[in-house]
Amino acid sequence: MIRESARVVIVGSGMGGGTLAWGLAQRGIDTLVLERGQTLPREPENWEPEAVFLDRRYKPEETWLDDDDEPFHPGVHYVVGGNTKLYGAALPRFRERDFTRTEFPAGVSPAWPFTYADIEPYYTQAESLYRVHGSTGLDPSEPWRSRPFPFPPLPHEPYVQEVADRLAGQGLHPSDTAIGIDLRPGGACQRCQTCDGFPCRLGAKSDSETCALGPALAGGSVRLRTGALIRRIELDKHGRVVRLHGELDGEPLEVEGSAFVISAGAANSAALLLASRTDELPTGIANSSGLVGRNYMVHNNTHFAAVDPRRRNDVVFQKTLCVHDFYDDLGDGFPGGTIQLIGKVQGSMMKSHATRVPRRALDRIADHSVEGVVMSEDLPSVHNRVTVDPDGRIRVSWRRTNYDRHEALLARAKQIMRRAGYSGFFEQRFTIDMNSHMCGTAVGGTDPSTSVLDPLCRSHDVPNLLVVDSAFFPSSAAQNPALTIAALALRVAAETDWDEVAA
Ligand SMILES: Cc1cc2nc3c(=O)[nH]c(=O)nc-3n(C[C@H](O)[C@H](O)[C@H](O)COP(=O)(O)OP(=O)(O)OC[C@H]3O[C@@H](n4cnc5c(N)ncnc54)[C@H](O)[C@@H]3O)c2cc1C
Repeated sequence: MIRESARVVIVGSGMGGGTLAWGLAQRGIDTLVLERGQTLPREPENWEPEAVFLDRRYKPEETWLDDDDEPFHPGVHYVVGGNTKLYGAALPRFRERDFTRTEFPAGVSPAWPFTYADIEPYYTQAESLYRVHGSTGLDPSEPWRSRPFPFPPLPHEPYVQEVADRLAGQGLHPSDTAIGIDLRPGGACQRCQTCDGFPCRLGAKSDSETCALGPALAGGSVRLRTGALIRRIELDKHGRVVRLHGELDGEPLEVEGSAFVISAGAANSAALLLASRTDELPTGIANSSGLVGRNYMVHNNTHFAAVDPRRRNDVVFQKTLCVHDFYDDLGDGFPGGTIQLIGKVQGSMMKSHATRVPRRALDRIADHSVEGVVMSEDLPSVHNRVTVDPDGRIRVSWRRTNYDRHEALLARAKQIMRRAGYSGFFEQRFTIDMNSHMCGTAVGGTDPSTSVLDPLCRSHDVPNLLVVDSAFFPSSAAQNPALTIAALALRVAAETDWDEVAA
Protein backbone atom coordinates (compact mmCIF):
# COMPACT_ATOMS: atom_id res chain seq x y z
CA MET A 1 0.00 0.00 0.00
CA ILE A 2 1.34 3.41 -1.00
CA ARG A 3 0.29 6.26 1.28
CA GLU A 4 0.39 9.96 0.47
CA SER A 5 -0.94 13.04 2.18
CA ALA A 6 -1.15 16.80 1.72
CA ARG A 7 -3.18 19.70 3.03
CA VAL A 8 -5.02 20.07 -0.28
CA VAL A 9 -5.31 17.08 -2.60
CA ILE A 10 -6.33 17.68 -6.23
CA VAL A 11 -7.47 14.86 -8.52
CA GLY A 12 -6.64 15.73 -12.15
CA SER A 13 -4.09 18.08 -13.70
CA GLY A 14 -6.09 19.52 -16.62
CA MET A 15 -7.39 23.05 -17.00
CA GLY A 16 -9.22 22.98 -13.67
CA GLY A 17 -6.73 21.05 -11.54
CA GLY A 18 -3.53 22.47 -13.03
CA THR A 19 -4.73 26.06 -12.77
CA LEU A 20 -5.98 25.56 -9.23
CA ALA A 21 -2.58 24.13 -8.27
CA TRP A 22 -0.98 27.32 -9.60
CA GLY A 23 -3.39 29.44 -7.56
CA LEU A 24 -2.66 27.46 -4.40
CA ALA A 25 1.07 27.74 -5.05
CA GLN A 26 0.71 31.54 -4.96
CA ARG A 27 -0.62 31.11 -1.43
CA GLY A 28 2.10 28.62 -0.48
CA ILE A 29 -0.43 25.91 0.37
CA ASP A 30 0.87 22.34 0.62
CA THR A 31 -0.80 20.65 -2.37
CA LEU A 32 -0.63 17.22 -3.97
CA VAL A 33 -1.90 16.73 -7.54
CA LEU A 34 -2.91 13.18 -8.46
CA GLU A 35 -2.95 12.53 -12.20
CA ARG A 36 -3.90 9.17 -13.68
CA GLY A 37 -1.85 9.76 -16.83
CA GLN A 38 1.81 10.34 -17.51
CA THR A 39 3.66 13.27 -19.00
CA LEU A 40 2.97 13.37 -22.72
CA PRO A 41 6.31 12.82 -24.46
CA ARG A 42 7.69 15.34 -26.94
CA GLU A 43 8.31 13.18 -29.98
CA PRO A 44 8.00 13.29 -33.78
CA GLU A 45 4.51 11.71 -33.61
CA ASN A 46 3.21 14.84 -31.83
CA TRP A 47 2.88 16.45 -35.23
CA GLU A 48 1.91 13.47 -37.36
CA PRO A 49 -1.78 13.62 -38.33
CA GLU A 50 -1.90 9.84 -38.90
CA ALA A 51 -0.55 9.12 -35.42
CA VAL A 52 -2.79 11.65 -33.69
CA PHE A 53 -6.05 11.24 -35.61
CA LEU A 54 -6.01 7.79 -37.20
CA ASP A 55 -3.99 5.82 -34.63
CA ARG A 56 -5.35 7.88 -31.68
CA ARG A 57 -1.90 7.76 -30.14
CA TYR A 58 -2.69 10.08 -27.22
CA LYS A 59 -6.18 8.82 -26.42
CA PRO A 60 -6.89 6.13 -23.86
CA GLU A 61 -8.05 2.69 -24.97
CA GLU A 62 -11.02 3.15 -22.67
CA THR A 63 -14.50 3.22 -24.16
CA TRP A 64 -17.70 4.56 -22.63
CA LEU A 65 -21.22 3.33 -23.40
CA ASP A 66 -24.16 5.18 -24.86
CA ASP A 67 -27.82 4.52 -24.05
CA ASP A 68 -27.96 1.64 -26.52
CA ASP A 69 -24.92 -0.07 -24.97
CA GLU A 70 -22.79 0.98 -27.95
CA PRO A 71 -19.18 1.65 -26.92
CA PHE A 72 -17.51 4.87 -28.08
CA HIS A 73 -14.10 6.49 -27.67
CA PRO A 74 -14.66 9.69 -25.67
CA GLY A 75 -12.84 12.96 -26.39
CA VAL A 76 -10.56 12.70 -23.36
CA HIS A 77 -6.80 12.57 -22.89
CA TYR A 78 -5.37 11.10 -19.71
CA VAL A 79 -2.03 12.89 -19.52
CA VAL A 80 -0.43 15.58 -17.38
CA GLY A 81 -2.28 18.72 -18.49
CA GLY A 82 -5.38 16.74 -19.47
CA ASN A 83 -7.24 17.81 -22.57
CA THR A 84 -5.34 21.07 -22.76
CA LYS A 85 -2.30 19.19 -24.11
CA LEU A 86 -4.19 18.70 -27.37
CA TYR A 87 -6.65 21.54 -27.30
CA GLY A 88 -6.85 24.32 -29.85
CA ALA A 89 -6.00 27.02 -27.27
CA ALA A 90 -8.85 29.30 -28.37
CA LEU A 91 -9.33 31.14 -25.09
CA PRO A 92 -12.28 33.53 -25.29
CA ARG A 93 -14.16 34.85 -22.29
CA PHE A 94 -17.81 34.02 -21.90
CA ARG A 95 -19.96 37.08 -22.47
CA GLU A 96 -21.85 38.99 -19.74
CA ARG A 97 -25.15 37.55 -20.90
CA ASP A 98 -23.80 34.02 -20.54
CA PHE A 99 -23.86 34.43 -16.75
CA THR A 100 -27.51 35.51 -16.74
CA ARG A 101 -30.77 33.65 -17.41
CA THR A 102 -31.47 33.53 -21.15
CA GLU A 103 -34.67 32.37 -22.81
CA PHE A 104 -34.47 30.21 -25.92
CA PRO A 105 -37.47 28.93 -27.90
CA ALA A 106 -36.60 25.43 -26.65
CA GLY A 107 -35.99 26.30 -23.00
CA VAL A 108 -33.92 28.27 -20.58
CA SER A 109 -30.19 28.74 -20.14
CA PRO A 110 -29.95 29.27 -16.38
CA ALA A 111 -28.08 32.03 -14.56
CA TRP A 112 -24.75 31.36 -12.89
CA PRO A 113 -24.52 31.99 -9.14
CA PHE A 114 -22.23 34.95 -9.79
CA THR A 115 -21.95 37.65 -12.41
CA TYR A 116 -19.44 38.41 -15.12
CA ALA A 117 -18.16 41.25 -12.93
CA ASP A 118 -17.37 38.75 -10.16
CA ILE A 119 -15.20 36.59 -12.41
CA GLU A 120 -13.73 39.38 -14.58
CA PRO A 121 -10.56 39.88 -12.49
CA TYR A 122 -9.84 36.16 -12.80
CA TYR A 123 -10.35 36.23 -16.57
CA THR A 124 -7.69 38.94 -16.59
CA GLN A 125 -5.39 36.79 -14.46
CA ALA A 126 -6.07 33.69 -16.59
CA GLU A 127 -5.31 35.58 -19.81
CA SER A 128 -1.99 36.61 -18.38
CA LEU A 129 -1.16 33.10 -17.11
CA TYR A 130 -2.13 31.50 -20.43
CA ARG A 131 -0.48 34.24 -22.57
CA VAL A 132 -3.62 35.05 -24.49
CA HIS A 133 -3.31 37.05 -27.71
CA GLY A 134 -6.35 39.04 -28.76
CA SER A 135 -7.82 42.38 -29.71
CA THR A 136 -10.64 44.63 -28.61
CA GLY A 137 -12.98 46.85 -30.58
CA LEU A 138 -13.81 44.52 -33.47
CA ASP A 139 -16.11 41.93 -31.91
CA PRO A 140 -19.71 43.09 -31.48
CA SER A 141 -20.30 40.62 -28.64
CA GLU A 142 -17.14 41.25 -26.61
CA PRO A 143 -17.60 41.82 -22.89
CA TRP A 144 -16.00 44.75 -21.03
CA ARG A 145 -12.57 44.14 -19.62
CA SER A 146 -10.54 45.83 -16.89
CA ARG A 147 -7.23 45.28 -18.70
CA PRO A 148 -6.29 44.88 -22.34
CA PHE A 149 -5.20 41.49 -23.64
CA PRO A 150 -1.65 40.79 -22.49
CA PHE A 151 -0.53 40.18 -26.09
CA PRO A 152 -1.62 41.58 -29.47
CA PRO A 153 -3.76 39.45 -31.77
CA LEU A 154 -2.25 37.02 -34.23
CA PRO A 155 -2.25 38.69 -37.62
CA HIS A 156 -4.31 36.87 -40.22
CA GLU A 157 -2.29 35.24 -42.97
CA PRO A 158 -3.14 36.65 -46.44
CA TYR A 159 -5.64 33.88 -47.28
CA VAL A 160 -7.52 34.38 -44.00
CA GLN A 161 -7.36 38.16 -44.38
CA GLU A 162 -9.12 37.74 -47.72
CA VAL A 163 -11.83 35.66 -46.03
CA ALA A 164 -12.15 38.41 -43.42
CA ASP A 165 -12.46 41.07 -46.12
CA ARG A 166 -15.12 39.09 -47.95
CA LEU A 167 -17.10 38.68 -44.73
CA ALA A 168 -16.67 42.36 -43.86
CA GLY A 169 -17.95 43.13 -47.35
CA GLN A 170 -21.23 41.52 -46.29
CA GLY A 171 -21.51 43.95 -43.37
CA LEU A 172 -20.21 41.42 -40.83
CA HIS A 173 -17.58 42.11 -38.16
CA PRO A 174 -14.96 39.37 -38.35
CA SER A 175 -12.67 39.59 -35.35
CA ASP A 176 -9.52 38.04 -33.93
CA THR A 177 -9.68 34.71 -32.14
CA ALA A 178 -8.32 34.96 -28.59
CA ILE A 179 -5.60 32.35 -28.53
CA GLY A 180 -3.00 31.08 -26.06
CA ILE A 181 0.34 30.39 -27.70
CA ASP A 182 3.86 31.58 -26.93
CA LEU A 183 4.40 34.30 -29.49
CA ARG A 184 6.06 36.65 -27.05
CA PRO A 185 9.27 38.23 -28.30
CA GLY A 186 11.64 35.24 -28.35
CA GLY A 187 8.71 32.88 -27.67
CA ALA A 188 8.86 29.24 -28.72
CA CYS A 189 5.87 29.20 -31.12
CA GLN A 190 6.68 28.89 -34.80
CA ARG A 191 3.02 28.91 -35.91
CA CYS A 192 2.74 25.51 -37.56
CA GLN A 193 -0.20 23.58 -39.02
CA THR A 194 -0.14 21.07 -36.19
CA CYS A 195 -1.46 23.03 -33.22
CA ASP A 196 -5.23 22.60 -32.94
CA GLY A 197 -5.83 18.99 -31.88
CA PHE A 198 -2.10 18.13 -31.65
CA PRO A 199 0.36 18.22 -28.74
CA CYS A 200 3.02 20.91 -29.15
CA ARG A 201 6.50 19.50 -29.65
CA LEU A 202 8.00 22.83 -28.70
CA GLY A 203 6.04 23.43 -25.52
CA ALA A 204 4.74 26.61 -27.14
CA LYS A 205 1.05 25.99 -26.60
CA SER A 206 -0.48 27.49 -23.47
CA ASP A 207 -1.64 24.25 -21.92
CA SER A 208 -2.14 23.81 -18.19
CA GLU A 209 1.06 21.82 -17.72
CA THR A 210 3.21 24.45 -19.42
CA CYS A 211 1.62 27.59 -18.01
CA ALA A 212 0.21 26.56 -14.63
CA LEU A 213 1.23 23.20 -13.20
CA GLY A 214 4.89 23.39 -14.24
CA PRO A 215 5.43 26.81 -12.60
CA ALA A 216 3.43 25.62 -9.56
CA LEU A 217 5.71 22.60 -9.13
CA ALA A 218 8.77 24.82 -9.41
CA GLY A 219 7.55 26.82 -6.40
CA GLY A 220 8.03 23.86 -4.03
CA SER A 221 4.65 23.76 -2.23
CA VAL A 222 2.96 21.66 -4.94
CA ARG A 223 3.79 18.03 -5.71
CA LEU A 224 2.58 15.81 -8.56
CA ARG A 225 2.06 12.05 -8.65
CA THR A 226 1.53 10.67 -12.13
CA GLY A 227 -0.01 7.27 -12.79
CA ALA A 228 -2.31 7.90 -9.79
CA LEU A 229 -5.81 6.76 -10.68
CA ILE A 230 -8.39 7.59 -8.00
CA ARG A 231 -11.34 5.25 -7.86
CA ARG A 232 -13.17 6.08 -4.62
CA ILE A 233 -13.70 8.85 -2.09
CA GLU A 234 -14.19 7.78 1.53
CA LEU A 235 -16.17 9.85 4.04
CA ASP A 236 -15.88 9.65 7.82
CA LYS A 237 -18.86 9.40 10.13
CA HIS A 238 -19.18 13.20 10.19
CA GLY A 239 -19.61 13.29 6.42
CA ARG A 240 -16.17 14.74 5.63
CA VAL A 241 -13.72 13.26 3.15
CA VAL A 242 -11.14 11.30 5.08
CA ARG A 243 -9.16 9.68 2.25
CA LEU A 244 -9.06 8.77 -1.42
CA HIS A 245 -8.50 5.25 -2.70
CA GLY A 246 -6.94 4.26 -5.97
CA GLU A 247 -3.81 2.93 -7.59
CA LEU A 248 -0.38 4.36 -8.21
CA ASP A 249 1.19 2.63 -11.21
CA GLY A 250 -0.92 -0.43 -10.37
CA GLU A 251 -0.11 -0.50 -6.61
CA PRO A 252 -2.91 0.24 -4.10
CA LEU A 253 -2.89 3.91 -3.09
CA GLU A 254 -4.46 5.80 -0.17
CA VAL A 255 -4.31 9.56 0.07
CA GLU A 256 -5.17 11.61 3.15
CA GLY A 257 -5.59 15.35 3.39
CA SER A 258 -7.60 18.19 4.86
CA ALA A 259 -9.29 19.45 1.69
CA PHE A 260 -10.01 17.46 -1.46
CA VAL A 261 -10.63 18.84 -4.93
CA ILE A 262 -11.94 16.76 -7.81
CA SER A 263 -10.84 18.17 -11.18
CA ALA A 264 -11.05 15.05 -13.30
CA GLY A 265 -13.09 16.62 -16.13
CA ALA A 266 -16.88 16.80 -16.22
CA ALA A 267 -17.58 13.11 -16.85
CA ASN A 268 -14.86 11.62 -14.66
CA SER A 269 -15.51 13.99 -11.76
CA ALA A 270 -19.17 13.02 -11.70
CA ALA A 271 -18.25 9.36 -12.17
CA LEU A 272 -15.94 9.47 -9.15
CA LEU A 273 -18.64 10.97 -6.93
CA LEU A 274 -21.17 8.40 -8.14
CA ALA A 275 -18.76 5.46 -7.86
CA SER A 276 -18.07 6.37 -4.22
CA ARG A 277 -21.58 5.30 -3.21
CA THR A 278 -22.02 3.37 0.03
CA ASP A 279 -24.92 1.70 1.81
CA GLU A 280 -25.49 5.00 3.66
CA LEU A 281 -25.17 7.08 0.48
CA PRO A 282 -26.52 4.80 -2.26
CA THR A 283 -26.69 7.58 -4.87
CA GLY A 284 -23.09 8.63 -4.34
CA ILE A 285 -21.21 11.38 -2.57
CA ALA A 286 -22.28 15.04 -2.57
CA ASN A 287 -25.51 14.02 -4.25
CA SER A 288 -28.37 15.01 -1.93
CA SER A 289 -29.73 17.04 -4.86
CA GLY A 290 -29.72 13.97 -7.11
CA LEU A 291 -28.00 16.12 -9.74
CA VAL A 292 -24.52 14.57 -9.83
CA GLY A 293 -23.97 13.39 -13.40
CA ARG A 294 -27.08 15.15 -14.74
CA ASN A 295 -27.28 18.26 -16.94
CA TYR A 296 -24.44 16.94 -19.10
CA MET A 297 -23.80 19.45 -21.89
CA VAL A 298 -21.31 19.41 -24.76
CA HIS A 299 -22.15 22.34 -27.09
CA ASN A 300 -23.95 21.90 -30.37
CA ASN A 301 -21.01 21.91 -32.74
CA THR A 302 -20.49 21.29 -36.42
CA HIS A 303 -17.18 21.35 -38.24
CA PHE A 304 -17.35 22.62 -41.79
CA ALA A 305 -15.04 22.70 -44.76
CA ALA A 306 -15.98 25.46 -47.21
CA VAL A 307 -14.50 24.78 -50.63
CA ASP A 308 -13.52 27.16 -53.40
CA PRO A 309 -12.08 24.92 -56.13
CA ARG A 310 -10.53 27.94 -57.87
CA ARG A 311 -8.45 29.08 -54.92
CA ARG A 312 -5.72 27.14 -53.18
CA ASN A 313 -5.57 27.61 -49.42
CA ASP A 314 -1.89 28.02 -48.55
CA VAL A 315 -2.46 29.04 -44.95
CA VAL A 316 -0.30 27.62 -42.18
CA PHE A 317 -1.92 28.94 -38.99
CA GLN A 318 -5.59 29.27 -39.82
CA LYS A 319 -7.20 29.63 -36.39
CA THR A 320 -7.17 33.43 -36.19
CA LEU A 321 -10.64 34.55 -37.24
CA CYS A 322 -14.11 34.40 -35.71
CA VAL A 323 -17.52 35.89 -36.39
CA HIS A 324 -19.68 36.90 -33.45
CA ASP A 325 -22.33 38.96 -35.20
CA PHE A 326 -24.91 36.28 -34.37
CA TYR A 327 -23.79 35.56 -30.82
CA ASP A 328 -26.58 37.41 -29.05
CA ASP A 329 -29.12 37.60 -31.83
CA LEU A 330 -29.50 35.56 -34.97
CA GLY A 331 -31.89 38.15 -36.32
CA ASP A 332 -34.96 36.67 -34.63
CA GLY A 333 -34.33 37.93 -31.10
CA PHE A 334 -32.63 34.74 -29.88
CA PRO A 335 -28.92 33.98 -29.53
CA GLY A 336 -27.10 32.14 -32.30
CA GLY A 337 -23.52 31.37 -31.26
CA THR A 338 -20.03 31.60 -32.64
CA ILE A 339 -18.45 30.79 -35.99
CA GLN A 340 -14.68 30.29 -35.83
CA LEU A 341 -11.98 29.11 -38.16
CA ILE A 342 -10.12 26.09 -36.81
CA GLY A 343 -6.57 24.82 -37.36
CA LYS A 344 -5.91 23.91 -41.00
CA VAL A 345 -7.37 20.47 -41.65
CA GLN A 346 -5.27 18.10 -43.75
CA GLY A 347 -6.60 15.28 -45.91
CA SER A 348 -5.32 12.65 -43.51
CA MET A 349 -7.31 14.26 -40.70
CA MET A 350 -10.50 14.18 -42.78
CA LYS A 351 -9.87 10.49 -43.36
CA SER A 352 -10.59 9.65 -39.71
CA HIS A 353 -14.25 10.57 -40.37
CA ALA A 354 -14.66 10.35 -44.15
CA THR A 355 -13.36 6.78 -44.11
CA ARG A 356 -14.80 5.81 -47.49
CA VAL A 357 -13.55 8.80 -49.45
CA PRO A 358 -10.21 8.16 -51.23
CA ARG A 359 -7.31 9.96 -49.64
CA ARG A 360 -6.39 11.78 -52.87
CA ALA A 361 -9.87 13.30 -53.07
CA LEU A 362 -9.61 14.43 -49.45
CA ASP A 363 -6.20 15.96 -50.08
CA ARG A 364 -7.64 17.91 -53.01
CA ILE A 365 -10.54 19.16 -50.92
CA ALA A 366 -8.18 20.15 -48.10
CA ASP A 367 -5.97 22.06 -50.53
CA HIS A 368 -8.95 24.21 -51.54
CA SER A 369 -10.94 24.47 -48.34
CA VAL A 370 -11.09 26.65 -45.29
CA GLU A 371 -12.38 24.95 -42.15
CA GLY A 372 -14.31 26.18 -39.18
CA VAL A 373 -16.64 25.29 -36.37
CA VAL A 374 -20.18 26.49 -35.81
CA MET A 375 -20.81 26.42 -32.08
CA SER A 376 -24.09 27.06 -30.33
CA GLU A 377 -25.43 26.59 -26.85
CA ASP A 378 -27.02 23.38 -25.69
CA LEU A 379 -29.28 23.49 -22.65
CA PRO A 380 -29.12 21.58 -19.39
CA SER A 381 -31.47 18.62 -19.16
CA VAL A 382 -31.69 16.22 -16.24
CA HIS A 383 -32.16 13.42 -18.76
CA ASN A 384 -28.72 13.99 -20.27
CA ARG A 385 -26.46 12.37 -17.77
CA VAL A 386 -23.35 10.45 -16.83
CA THR A 387 -23.80 7.29 -14.80
CA VAL A 388 -21.44 4.54 -13.72
CA ASP A 389 -22.20 0.88 -14.38
CA PRO A 390 -21.55 -1.65 -11.61
CA ASP A 391 -18.24 -2.58 -13.30
CA GLY A 392 -17.11 1.07 -13.09
CA ARG A 393 -17.66 1.89 -16.76
CA ILE A 394 -18.96 5.33 -17.67
CA ARG A 395 -22.27 5.52 -19.47
CA VAL A 396 -23.54 8.68 -21.18
CA SER A 397 -27.23 9.25 -21.91
CA TRP A 398 -27.39 12.12 -24.34
CA ARG A 399 -29.95 13.68 -26.64
CA ARG A 400 -29.32 16.95 -28.42
CA THR A 401 -31.07 20.00 -26.95
CA ASN A 402 -31.76 23.43 -28.44
CA TYR A 403 -30.77 22.06 -31.83
CA ASP A 404 -33.05 24.36 -33.83
CA ARG A 405 -30.77 27.24 -32.88
CA HIS A 406 -27.82 25.27 -34.15
CA GLU A 407 -29.52 24.47 -37.45
CA ALA A 408 -30.31 28.15 -37.88
CA LEU A 409 -26.74 29.25 -37.13
CA LEU A 410 -25.33 26.56 -39.40
CA ALA A 411 -27.59 27.72 -42.22
CA ARG A 412 -26.33 31.27 -41.66
CA ALA A 413 -22.71 30.09 -41.70
CA LYS A 414 -23.31 28.31 -44.99
CA GLN A 415 -24.91 31.43 -46.42
CA ILE A 416 -22.08 33.78 -45.48
CA MET A 417 -19.44 31.36 -46.76
CA ARG A 418 -21.32 30.97 -50.08
CA ARG A 419 -21.47 34.73 -50.39
CA ALA A 420 -17.74 34.82 -49.64
CA GLY A 421 -17.12 32.67 -52.72
CA TYR A 422 -17.22 29.11 -51.40
CA SER A 423 -19.38 26.92 -53.63
CA GLY A 424 -18.91 23.77 -51.57
CA PHE A 425 -19.79 23.32 -47.90
CA PHE A 426 -19.13 20.01 -46.17
CA GLU A 427 -20.40 19.51 -42.63
CA GLN A 428 -19.47 17.15 -39.85
CA ARG A 429 -21.92 17.32 -36.98
CA PHE A 430 -20.49 16.42 -33.62
CA THR A 431 -21.55 13.04 -32.31
CA ILE A 432 -21.52 11.58 -28.80
CA ASP A 433 -17.80 10.82 -28.95
CA MET A 434 -16.92 14.46 -29.78
CA ASN A 435 -17.51 15.63 -26.24
CA SER A 436 -14.39 17.61 -25.50
CA HIS A 437 -16.45 20.64 -24.33
CA MET A 438 -18.46 18.63 -21.81
CA CYS A 439 -19.74 20.37 -18.69
CA GLY A 440 -22.60 20.70 -16.20
CA THR A 441 -22.45 17.39 -14.31
CA ALA A 442 -22.06 18.90 -10.81
CA VAL A 443 -23.78 22.19 -11.32
CA GLY A 444 -23.00 25.25 -9.20
CA GLY A 445 -25.67 27.33 -7.43
CA THR A 446 -26.84 28.76 -4.13
CA ASP A 447 -29.72 26.36 -3.46
CA PRO A 448 -28.60 22.88 -2.29
CA SER A 449 -31.78 21.34 -3.67
CA THR A 450 -31.08 22.52 -7.22
CA SER A 451 -27.29 22.45 -7.31
CA VAL A 452 -24.37 20.25 -6.26
CA LEU A 453 -21.77 22.95 -5.56
CA ASP A 454 -21.81 26.39 -3.99
CA PRO A 455 -20.60 29.44 -5.95
CA LEU A 456 -17.00 28.64 -4.97
CA CYS A 457 -17.25 25.04 -6.23
CA ARG A 458 -17.61 23.56 -2.73
CA SER A 459 -20.00 20.68 -2.16
CA HIS A 460 -23.19 21.71 -0.36
CA ASP A 461 -23.09 18.32 1.40
CA VAL A 462 -19.43 17.55 2.13
CA PRO A 463 -17.62 20.52 3.69
CA ASN A 464 -14.06 19.62 2.66
CA LEU A 465 -14.85 18.56 -0.91
CA LEU A 466 -14.75 20.77 -4.01
CA VAL A 467 -15.19 20.06 -7.71
CA VAL A 468 -13.20 22.51 -9.81
CA ASP A 469 -13.65 21.92 -13.51
CA SER A 470 -16.33 22.33 -16.15
CA ALA A 471 -18.69 20.10 -14.14
CA PHE A 472 -19.60 23.32 -12.27
CA PHE A 473 -21.01 25.10 -15.35
CA PRO A 474 -24.74 25.87 -14.95
CA SER A 475 -24.88 26.59 -18.68
CA SER A 476 -22.53 25.86 -21.57
CA ALA A 477 -22.65 29.31 -23.20
CA ALA A 478 -21.53 29.16 -26.84
CA GLN A 479 -17.84 29.84 -26.40
CA ASN A 480 -14.85 27.56 -25.92
CA PRO A 481 -14.82 26.67 -22.22
CA ALA A 482 -11.17 26.47 -21.13
CA LEU A 483 -10.50 30.09 -20.15
CA THR A 484 -13.66 30.09 -18.04
CA ILE A 485 -12.52 26.89 -16.29
CA ALA A 486 -9.17 28.56 -15.59
CA ALA A 487 -10.81 31.74 -14.30
CA LEU A 488 -13.10 29.67 -12.09
CA ALA A 489 -10.12 27.80 -10.64
CA LEU A 490 -8.22 31.03 -9.96
CA ARG A 491 -11.28 32.47 -8.23
CA VAL A 492 -11.63 29.37 -6.07
CA ALA A 493 -7.93 29.43 -5.19
CA ALA A 494 -8.03 33.09 -4.20
CA GLU A 495 -11.43 33.44 -2.51
CA THR A 496 -11.74 30.13 -0.65
CA ASP A 497 -10.95 30.19 3.05
CA TRP A 498 -8.79 27.06 2.92
CA ASP A 499 -8.32 27.02 6.69
CA GLU A 500 -12.07 26.87 7.15
CA VAL A 501 -12.48 24.15 4.48
CA ALA A 502 -9.73 22.11 6.10
CA ALA A 503 -10.89 22.63 9.71
C1 LIG B 1 -8.85 18.29 -29.42
C2 LIG B 1 -9.40 19.26 -28.44
C3 LIG B 1 -9.45 20.61 -28.78
C4 LIG B 1 -9.95 21.54 -27.86
N1 LIG B 1 -9.89 22.86 -28.16
C5 LIG B 1 -10.28 23.77 -27.25
C6 LIG B 1 -10.10 25.16 -27.50
O1 LIG B 1 -9.56 25.58 -28.52
N2 LIG B 1 -10.54 26.03 -26.55
C7 LIG B 1 -11.13 25.61 -25.38
O2 LIG B 1 -11.54 26.45 -24.58
N3 LIG B 1 -11.29 24.30 -25.14
C8 LIG B 1 -10.86 23.38 -26.01
N4 LIG B 1 -10.98 22.04 -25.74
C9 LIG B 1 -11.63 21.66 -24.47
C10 LIG B 1 -10.72 21.86 -23.26
O3 LIG B 1 -9.51 21.18 -23.46
C11 LIG B 1 -11.45 21.32 -22.02
O4 LIG B 1 -12.65 22.07 -21.87
C12 LIG B 1 -10.64 21.47 -20.74
O5 LIG B 1 -9.38 20.89 -20.84
C13 LIG B 1 -11.42 20.80 -19.61
O6 LIG B 1 -10.74 21.03 -18.40
P1 LIG B 1 -11.03 20.08 -17.17
O7 LIG B 1 -10.13 20.50 -16.07
O8 LIG B 1 -12.50 20.07 -16.94
O9 LIG B 1 -10.63 18.60 -17.68
P2 LIG B 1 -9.31 18.04 -18.35
O10 LIG B 1 -8.49 19.14 -18.92
O11 LIG B 1 -9.71 16.96 -19.28
O12 LIG B 1 -8.49 17.41 -17.14
C14 LIG B 1 -8.94 16.30 -16.40
C15 LIG B 1 -7.72 15.56 -15.86
O13 LIG B 1 -8.12 14.62 -14.87
C16 LIG B 1 -7.43 13.40 -15.06
N5 LIG B 1 -8.26 12.35 -14.46
C17 LIG B 1 -9.47 11.94 -14.89
N6 LIG B 1 -9.95 11.00 -14.06
C18 LIG B 1 -9.04 10.81 -13.09
C19 LIG B 1 -8.98 9.96 -11.95
N7 LIG B 1 -10.00 9.15 -11.62
N8 LIG B 1 -7.86 9.97 -11.17
C20 LIG B 1 -6.81 10.80 -11.48
N9 LIG B 1 -6.83 11.65 -12.56
C21 LIG B 1 -7.94 11.66 -13.34
C22 LIG B 1 -7.27 13.30 -16.56
O14 LIG B 1 -6.23 12.41 -16.92
C23 LIG B 1 -6.99 14.76 -16.93
O15 LIG B 1 -5.61 15.05 -16.86
C24 LIG B 1 -10.47 21.10 -26.61
C25 LIG B 1 -10.39 19.74 -26.28
C26 LIG B 1 -9.87 18.83 -27.17
C27 LIG B 1 -9.79 17.38 -26.77
